[in-house]
Amino acid sequence: MTERVHNFSAGPCTLPLSVLEEGQAEFVDYHGAGMSLIEMSHRGKHFVAVHEEAIDLVRTVYGVPDEFDVLFLQGGATLQFAMVPMNLLKSGERGAYVNSGTWAKGAIADAQHYGDVYTAWDGTDCNFTRMPNTGEIEIQSGTRYLHLTSNETIGGIRFGDWPKVDVPLVGDMSSDYMSRPVPWDRFDLVYGGAQKNLGPAGMALVIIRKTVARENNQNIGRYLRYDIQADKDSMFNTPPVFPIYMLGKVLKWMRDQGGVEAMERQAEDKAGILYRAIDDSGGYYRCPVDVDSRSVMNVVFRLPSEDLEKTFLSGADAAGLLNLKGHRSVGGIRASIYNAMPKEGVQALASFMSDFQGAHPA
Ligand SMILES: *Cc1c(COP(=O)(O)O)cnc(C)c1O
Repeated sequence: MTERVHNFSAGPCTLPLSVLEEGQAEFVDYHGAGMSLIEMSHRGKHFVAVHEEAIDLVRTVYGVPDEFDVLFLQGGATLQFAMVPMNLLKSGERGAYVNSGTWAKGAIADAQHYGDVYTAWDGTDCNFTRMPNTGEIEIQSGTRYLHLTSNETIGGIRFGDWPKVDVPLVGDMSSDYMSRPVPWDRFDLVYGGAQKNLGPAGMALVIIRKTVARENNQNIGRYLRYDIQADKDSMFNTPPVFPIYMLGKVLKWMRDQGGVEAMERQAEDKAGILYRAIDDSGGYYRCPVDVDSRSVMNVVFRLPSEDLEKTFLSGADAAGLLNLKGHRSVGGIRASIYNAMPKEGVQALASFMSDFQGAHPA
């Protein structure tokens, strides 16, 4: 038996064990080809079948309407910070951004090189402990899209309700991709790195409205154009074959669990266990986030002192609960409990929290 720990890493992160084992079993000799999938042409029959199936799975599992193209691109979510404004902003058009924390700031910083962008809501004053309500988002005239970060991975906040504004939404879904349904009619584009909910690092999944991909700017390098990527079905150049292959397996696993609706139920259930452990601790554990904005993917909390946090982390390590350290920019504890985190892992953490409090009173 392989020893597996409970891995609360923020990304790359836990993947379903069955997916890893399947990949391992097929790795050296892929379906009798006498070679592995990563050694063969991406235009050969084996990989083309994997590629097409992965696109189909994205559509069925995530409920993506026919009006959207599904793209597998390199450069992770970060390249999309630049590609979105590069492609979408025409002269005279503006990009609106919700500044919800670390990742939103990255998107804003990159967009500024490619067009006129502004902050439609700024979470700086509340130290990024909540997301805005629709009424707080100020859309100015000439706005092409509103960019939002569905879930801020470091701050541990998420949009509970999607904003209802008069312009199309663009969403960075990196850290809660396929953990809940998306109102597709409100979005022109969603994107995210694969390495949290979808598979290994090395690619972004981009889902773009077809009409938007056909109207994008053409005065940019070919790889960077959504229209070319869509026309070539993400085979403009050699695609990230291994991440696409693994993503297909992860999506089959999700489908077999009951799809995005099941992922959503499980996420609420798992996060509920940890937030209850925090709320029932009599103030020993504290979550800095507003209740309505609490992430169900990244649960952040503090202990009574930084010393206790250090002791907590080393005790957790020894108990097989790994990678619970908060991001270096904010400190504290962060439990990332993406789709593939089993409920047992979350229960083990909750009982460790209770034992730890008993052994180390404030
Ligand atoms: C992880 C993450 C990113 C960065 O993803 P890369 O694929 O490493 O570029 C961007 N946005 C959010 C919300 C993330 O969680």
